[in-house]
Amino acid sequence: MHPRKVVDLVIVGGGIAGLWLANLFVQRGYSLLLLEAHTLGGGQTLASQGMIHGGLKYSLDGNLSPATAAIAHMPARWRACLAGSGELDLRALTPLCQRYFLFAQGSLEDRLTAFFASKLMRGRIDKLTAADYPAVFQRTDFTGTVYGVDDLVIDTAALVRLLRGNVAGHIYRHALQADDVALQDDHVTLTLGEHRITARQLVLCAGAGNGPLLGALAIPSPRMQLRGLHQAMVFHQHTDPMYAHCLTGLRGSQPRLTITTHARSDPRSNQQVWYLGGQLAEDGVSLNEQALAEQAREELRACVGWLNWDDAKVRGLRIDRAEPLRDDGGRPDDPFVEAHGPVLTCWPVKLSLAPALGDAAAALLAAPVQPSARISLDGMAAAPVGQVPWEH
Ligand SMILES: Cc1cc2nc3c(=O)[nH]c(=O)nc-3n(C[C@H](O)[C@H](O)[C@H](O)COP(=O)(O)OP(=O)(O)OC[C@H]3O[C@@H](n4cnc5c(N)ncnc54)[C@H](O)[C@@H]3O)c2cc1C
Repeated sequence: MHPRKVVDLVIVGGGIAGLWLANLFVQRGYSLLLLEAHTLGGGQTLASQGMIHGGLKYSLDGNLSPATAAIAHMPARWRACLAGSGELDLRALTPLCQRYFLFAQGSLEDRLTAFFASKLMRGRIDKLTAADYPAVFQRTDFTGTVYGVDDLVIDTAALVRLLRGNVAGHIYRHALQADDVALQDDHVTLTLGEHRITARQLVLCAGAGNGPLLGALAIPSPRMQLRGLHQAMVFHQHTDPMYAHCLTGLRGSQPRLTITTHARSDPRSNQQVWYLGGQLAEDGVSLNEQALAEQAREELRACVGWLNWDDAKVRGLRIDRAEPLRDDGGRPDDPFVEAHGPVLTCWPVKLSLAPALGDAAAALLAAPVQPSARISLDGMAAAPVGQVPWEH
């Protein structure tokens, strides 16, 4: 057994929550370790659509919901980071798009009167003239309307690589289990192979892994809920990217399709991936992959019928959103951080809400006392960065 090491924090999980907090708190002088069971970002983070949004899609019915209020400032917080003036320096990250779009066949104003009239939307949404349409809509056979909003889309793989780079020396590959952990009132002792670590606080950022860990540690609260999605990855040869919510024939309060575009890492493949979420992915949970693929093609023909989808290949991705339990099983509004003795449980709830998660966690952490140098754990491997789902 190596001599015992003492740190301020051990963070469990290397998705956006764990990586964001590790970057923030190393910068603020905490000594910390981050343990990742598999690959960095390989849970929900790399499977996400990378949209840094201000909650507009939660308010299509015109209501300023609590969710919209919580998230409205997030694009500005991220833009500050991208410009080098925010809490993290993300200047090395180039967004996939700086503006997001809404589109529909026909006009939307008559169908979404309350949405367009709401105070929330003032100054945040512009109706574009045809000359300003993104290239994918610059077609004589597109007869709809396009609106621009102040959201952005980031390359999640580049984000994970950047956040890892700043704290690489603090990250180890280890699937934490309850047997590794001895909880005391004011600290936690972890046994990781030959290493014994005392941490003043244990920060659970394990996404869907938080629930099992809390259960095994006999921590009764918080409890976790999982909400499924069945995303569609559409591989095709069309060249113009699409970053937009499709609201054509909107039925519920959720965009019919939420579309982001991603290049393949092999440039010879000459293919783009349109990654489809929205109502399709919610409804797709009850479909098998083949039925989802048929549904995705049908939706693309209905919403983006000016392009041909006959040769597109579609793959499905089933993935759960891991969140704090809500009585009604619905979407939580805010990022979640709760302390139980020296254990903090975190769920960002949205990638976009990472800055707000940082604020909430900072408010519950004790001040750092250990020198923030790298903690070397001989014999333990580094955790690699995961792959985006369309490269699997
Ligand atoms: C399909 C999809 C699309 C989305 N799109 C968007 C979007 O466009 N915009 C947006 O704002 N939000 C989006 N979200 C939500 C967002 O992706 C998540 O809220 C966020 O990524 C959660 O991050 P996390 O770090 O909590 O969890 P994760 O990314 O799941 O990371 C948890 C990590 O913990 C590790 N782990 C688990 N158990 C252990 C253990 N015992 N020991 C060590 N490590 C462990 C896992 O391996 C994993 O790497 C989307 C979510 C999904 C599923």
